[in-house]
Amino acid sequence: MAVVAWETSIRNGKVLNVFPSAKLSKGWLDALKTSIVAFNNLKLNVTFAIPNNAQAIPPDGEDGVEVQFNMGRGTITNQAHGTTFTLTDKAGQVVNFSGTSLHGSTQTLKRSFGGPHLIRRAFITVPDKPQMSATGGQRDAGPNILNFIAFHELIHATGLSNDEHSATGPNADGFTIFPTADAGKTAKDDRMILNSNPPRIFAPPLTISPRVVGLINGNW
Ligand SMILES: [Zn+2]
Repeated sequence: MAVVAWETSIRNGKVLNVFPSAKLSKGWLDALKTSIVAFNNLKLNVTFAIPNNAQAIPPDGEDGVEVQFNMGRGTITNQAHGTTFTLTDKAGQVVNFSGTSLHGSTQTLKRSFGGPHLIRRAFITVPDKPQMSATGGQRDAGPNILNFIAFHELIHATGLSNDEHSATGPNADGFTIFPTADAGKTAKDDRMILNSNPPRIFAPPLTISPRVVGLINGNW
């Protein structure tokens, strides 16, 4: 996998419209909105928007938004442009998506009209009940954790694949894979640890490194 561009008319528009699934919890809807604000504050070549009249991606045809934000668990299946596609891993095996983990997944639907394959739609799926360890045992992850998960998937939705992930270390950022959840006194105080050695790096804030800025802007 590599960085893939969106179809030309979408790329020229510089905006990815998002449809929040009607099934989203209030926590996830808030996290989606917060992460979009954080992303747009980065002032990159592309922004995200939730239009008032946002329409879901239909099973077929050109209507609807570019990006749909769903929550789920188990087998993840989406439909667009007359195609049903199921979330699979690199080996092509169907993924049993965890509803309690702390990371999401973004599937893109690409098309080719004789040229390179370009992205036409993206489906973001986040776990429906993210859990973390805290004093007293497992509990629901707090809003900062959900914000990070959503922000990370927005970066994927711009066209970056798992191969472009940031490593943990001094340049860790919002695109780092497998950060550690750090439980606060209350869920509201939870945060992600992106780099656990000095210099320790936390999220919030939701930021990205110059390397990831370059990848996104180079694709838009
Ligand atoms: Zn990722």
